[in-house]
Amino acid sequence: MLRAKQVSAREVAQAHLDRIRHEDEKYGCFLTVDEPRTLAEADHAQELLDRGEAGPLTGIPIAIKDNISTKGLRTTCASRILENYVPPFDATVMQQISSQGLVTLGKTNLDEFAMGTSCENSAFKPSRNPWDTSRSPGGSSGGSAAAVAAELAPLSLGSDTGGSIRMPASLCGIVGYKPTYGRVSRYGLVAFGSSLDQIGPFARNVEDCALLAEAISGHDHRDSTSLQDAKIKVGGLKSGRLNGLKFALPKEMFEGALEPGVRQIMEETVATLTREGVQFTEISIPEIGLGVTTYYIIAPAEASSNLARFDGVRYGPREESQGHIGVVAATRGRLFGHEVKARIMIGTYALSAGYYDAFYLKAQKVRAKMAAKFEQAFQDFDAVLTPASPVVAFKLGELSDDPLQLKLLDFCTIPANMGGFPGISLNAGFSDGLPVGVQLLAPVMGDEKLLQMAYSVERALPDAIRRPNMP
Ligand code: GLN
Repeated sequence: MLRAKQVSAREVAQAHLDRIRHEDEKYGCFLTVDEPRTLAEADHAQELLDRGEAGPLTGIPIAIKDNISTKGLRTTCASRILENYVPPFDATVMQQISSQGLVTLGKTNLDEFAMGTSCENSAFKPSRNPWDTSRSPGGSSGGSAAAVAAELAPLSLGSDTGGSIRMPASLCGIVGYKPTYGRVSRYGLVAFGSSLDQIGPFARNVEDCALLAEAISGHDHRDSTSLQDAKIKVGGLKSGRLNGLKFALPKEMFEGALEPGVRQIMEETVATLTREGVQFTEISIPEIGLGVTTYYIIAPAEASSNLARFDGVRYGPREESQGHIGVVAATRGRLFGHEVKARIMIGTYALSAGYYDAFYLKAQKVRAKMAAKFEQAFQDFDAVLTPASPVVAFKLGELSDDPLQLKLLDFCTIPANMGGFPGISLNAGFSDGLPVGVQLLAPVMGDEKLLQMAYSVERALPDAIRRPNMP
């Protein structure tokens, strides 16, 4: 419609801003919206459209997780310690989306510093699941996921360190994709676990998700872990077929912890895809059982180092106290939330002299072993299929007093971060009216084929694209 001039970019932006203004009270997706700025971006997009310089996403609105730096627009990481922080620079992904004429609607809620699985660790407010607003949208990118599901934005960006894109996508019934580590620049993403963090897209279908992945990917000299052939090219998205594909089912992802409703949808998905000609084989990767333990050493260790910069001197607010150490202690003690402080302490301990070998180094060895086992599986199979989350959306408050239980929910998504390989979650069906996501995993740099397979799987699953009941 934009290209045919049936609507202007400004009208599209205004329609979304109006919807956010009227509906977001129910969902709590946005932390910051700057309407004049959004409309100015829309006018810039219109110029690109009028000059015939439009790309595939020019004029399309997008919501941005609030741990991605936006020049001149508050970036809080949902933390009191960054409550008033306005970055003086744009993340590389922001430069890419603005040069391609996407229109930023605002910044979305998350668990503080992306540490969490429910979006309840935000210092400001929880976000809510559009399928049932008494439930969590998942986390940590809960605001970005819920915004897309609630049709407040057609696209959004999240970040995924241990599952924070794929897990909320599963709970909100949309598509969430973590690209291969190094294909999307991390420059300007506020670092959590630097060896695990990756920015990626949310969308309502695989095609939109692929277009956004193409838009944000590419080599970046400002990110030392950026890959040379980073651009994700999605021209072949629709030319795949399911018939003849070989998928592995790691039995450790289907044991015990799965909710019965999730297990049933997974069984139905396997049956449907088998009818389409996919061959399934059960495999075993025992290291999956060590994933949560290993991740919750490595991620806090890296976080404890990354978060040392928030000292009350360089960013955001400061708590006054006696002397330098007093100021740092008061600032960090009062302005970091409980989960963030717990992780800084765990991580500092795991890295300290005498414990480094026993914890961090050992965790890195388990990580390498797990990655090697998956690499082996990818030599024998086109993809590994798993649930994206062992549970459907849970009630807000239900697990907030049980951090261990919340962390155990991450076992399906952690391996992709450990091995740096790509993973995508798309909706496979419903359990008692709540969405259940299926995850496909593929080898490092296998993103194009992964998206192609996900596109074909989406065509085969009757419930893949559905909207919640809402105005
Ligand atoms: N739930 C995981 C955690 O709390 C993953 C977070 C993420 O991917 N950012 O660390």
